[in-house]
Amino acid sequence: MPFDVAAIRADFPILHRQVNGKPLVYLDNAATSQKPQAVIDSIVEYYSRYNANIHRGVHSLSQEATDAFEQARIKIQKHFNIAKKHEVIFTSGTTHGINLVAQGFSNLLEAGDEVLVSALEHHSNIVPWQMLCERTGARLEVLPMNAEGTLAMDQLKNVLSSKTKLVFVNHISNALGTINPIEEIIQKAHQVGAAVLVDGAQACSHLQPDLQALNVDFYVTSAHKMCGPTGIGMLYGKESWLEKLPPYQGGGEMISEVTFEKTTYAELPHKFEAGTPNIAGGIAFGAAIDYLQHIGLDAIAQYEAELLAYATQELGTIEGMKIYGTGPDKTSVISFNVGEIHPYDIGTILDQMGIAVRTGHHCAQPVMQYFNIPGTVRASFAFYNTKEEIDALVNGVRKAQMMLS
Ligand SMILES: *Cc1c(COP(=O)(O)O)cnc(C)c1O
Repeated sequence: MPFDVAAIRADFPILHRQVNGKPLVYLDNAATSQKPQAVIDSIVEYYSRYNANIHRGVHSLSQEATDAFEQARIKIQKHFNIAKKHEVIFTSGTTHGINLVAQGFSNLLEAGDEVLVSALEHHSNIVPWQMLCERTGARLEVLPMNAEGTLAMDQLKNVLSSKTKLVFVNHISNALGTINPIEEIIQKAHQVGAAVLVDGAQACSHLQPDLQALNVDFYVTSAHKMCGPTGIGMLYGKESWLEKLPPYQGGGEMISEVTFEKTTYAELPHKFEAGTPNIAGGIAFGAAIDYLQHIGLDAIAQYEAELLAYATQELGTIEGMKIYGTGPDKTSVISFNVGEIHPYDIGTILDQMGIAVRTGHHCAQPVMQYFNIPGTVRASFAFYNTKEEIDALVNGVRKAQMMLS
């Protein structure tokens, strides 16, 4: 069956609006995805029909809300092939999930231990580990990158040793779109006894990771990059690790028994879900997963690969075009500069034409430092984008180049 992008676009109300008098061409999907009507409806339905606090009430509305929220947890569990549903922790997003784990490791690390991060990380995957190292006296090591914008895997053996306790790597780089060889990293880290956390924020809109097959210790993602709402995400942790980590926040929902002498913590997953969660968000996260599965992640990956190939070829015809991130395994993200033109200036002119791209360092300043540039223009494509929109981008960049040089 051919990929029916027109039918898919009809599911996304925002794609039909105009920006600056032009039809919106939304190419900033790596920052956040747009939302299909089914996800929007699930939020409206929750607040219109069964809004209630969960887990505590005996009344029917509370039961309905609890069931829907827990049903969403099971959808996430199945989608990522997670063994146990209490290994799915609702968070406010990737950043929250990373901080929860980093905080939890404070008591498990000591001076002399090492934490390894990759050179391709998002700031949210660097700063929490630097803070962890400051608290514990552990040392931060970096797995370098190379000119293709891929990880220098031949150097892994130099930075990974029995001192390494934790390894952090993103599944897909948000700045360049590189798909990292996480299978190999997980396997080698486990050989030296290190735990691995993979940041899947950029991956889950493009592929469907099987977390049991990966044998990863922790995996985090945000719903808003996979057609879900903002303010909700998932932390997966192996049960054995989640049992070992202390709770991140104190509050309601996360306790079993409280006296002024001592509090015992609730069972997983509630131990990590203090306070009233984002109930509507959790339910809508489930609706987003339903939607992605209905389209099919394989079909999405195939169509996006076509978009990537087309955009790479067409942008490549522009004089002075330099694309960063040219490894063999990448998703539909193109980070580029044109001659000496500042990325911000290109972004501003594209916006006048209704074309939304991201400009700047993409929360990955070390990657920009590696290439010795202040930033790039980043066009990131989703399964609802079209070749016509890529043509509009290419024409827009040409026009910007004419105006600016
Ligand atoms: C977006 C992103 C994050 C941060 O996600 P939030 O939803 O802002 O917490 C972290 N890592 C990568 C690779 C990302 O793309």
